[in-house]
This record gives sequence, structure tokens and C-alpha cells, in this order.
Amino acid sequence: MKAFTVNVVTPDGPVFDSEVEMIIAKAKSGELGIMAGHIPLVAPLEIGAVRLKNGGNTELVAVSGGLLEVRPEKVTILAQAAEIAEKIDVERALAAKERAERRLNEMKQDTLDFKRAELALQRALNRISVSGKK
Ligand code: ATP
Repeated sequence: MKAFTVNVVTPDGPVFDSEVEMIIAKAKSGELGIMAGHIPLVAPLEIGAVRLKNGGNTELVAVSGGLLEVRPEKVTILAQAAEIAEKIDVERALAAKERAERRLNEMKQDTLDFKRAELALQRALNRISVSGKK
């Protein structure tokens, strides 16, 4: 398969910059598979795993929402936060999960804080999941 460049960029700096043959990402509109030559596209991403495949190798990145942009020369993922699987601190994610669950139990639904706790829980569960599979 033909390879193309992918950049995963966050406000803290670049997280991934390499050639891949396929990207699988969770867009708001559903699962997205990108290969070389894909038409230009901008798609909002869910909190989820992004799979970067190259030969028999798959790099997993936990992405906390953002945008995926396909251009003729490269693909850019602009994320609020993103971590490659090996860099995830699982203990930290487990603590964030417990904190979020406690908040959800204490708070009224339909409040802004409830929504924030739900998103924090999603980020933590995504990190735990991404750190565990290859
Ligand atoms: P926490 O409550 O643990 O800070 P969070 O979901 O609120 O979690 P974010 O605001 O999404 O954290 O991220 C802040 C910064 O910390 C980002 O640079 C992100 O990549 C990093 N980060 C957050 N959680 C982890 C983790 N479990 N392992 C490694 N980096 C993390």
C-alpha cells in the first residue's frame, strides 16, 4: 500500500509525525478509514482511538476529540490532547476515571459540571482502553 505523512498535533506540541498506509479514526459521523489519495476532507473526531497502520505495525493514539484534515500531501490530526499508547500513564487515567465517576454520582444531570465529568470519564476510559490493546 502507498504511504503518506500523518501529523498528530496538540497545543502541547507534536505527538506523531510519520508515514503510514492507513488511518482508522472515530469521526462524529462514524468510523473513518483513510488511505493514500483520499479526497480532501475535514472531519470532527470523537474521543477515541486512532489507529495508524504501516505494514504489519499498528500505532494506537488516544485522541481527546479534535479535527482530522485530509490534504493531498498529508493528513493532520489537530487534537486538544493526544497520547500514543506507550506514553499513557494508566494510574493517572484510573484516578481520573474514579474522580469523574464520583462527580457523576454527586451531581445533578443536565448541568454543565455533569457534562464535564462525563467528558472526563470518556477521556479516562479511552486512555485506559488504548494503553491496553495493541
Ligand atoms: P487529568 O484529570 O488526569 O489531568 P484530563 O482528561 O483532564 O486528565 P486533559 O486535560 O485531557 O487531561 O490533558 C491534559 C494534558 O495531560 C495533555 O497534555 C494530555 O496529553 C495529558 N494527559 C492526560 N492524562 C494523561 C495520561 N493518563 N497519560 C499521559 N498523559 C496524559
